[in-house]
Amino acid sequence: MRGWQLHSLLIEDGYLPGATICCISGSTHKVQYHSENYYEPWNSYPISQPIHVALHRRFSQPEAWTAILEHHSVTGQEWFAQLQMTPVDFAAELRAAHGSQITRVFDRVLGRYRGPGQF
Ligand SMILES: [Zn+2]
Repeated sequence: MRGWQLHSLLIEDGYLPGATICCISGSTHKVQYHSENYYEPWNSYPISQPIHVALHRRFSQPEAWTAILEHHSVTGQEWFAQLQMTPVDFAAELRAAHGSQITRVFDRVLGRYRGPGQF
């Protein structure tokens, strides 16, 4: 299940209100939830779709995200201003703790479709 599906389910079941106002820009256009931790999907932020895309692309396209921060962050203490600019490699942390049998599931699955050595 993807994050957006989980948010839809939570909205449908009344655990989350509909996402109507972007908490970063104030926009009411194409607002959707973003969660930094899907173990706690009820702690999600309603953000506009363009900001959501820039947030998720901040590792590969930091300029767009930095421009959003410069425009919308007031104190630098807002949740979105505190996000890391480098991705968390949870699989590497698990490998370090539990050994090499821990792998990136998506890479393994995609590798099967692309063939060996096609990462
Ligand atoms: Zn998101």
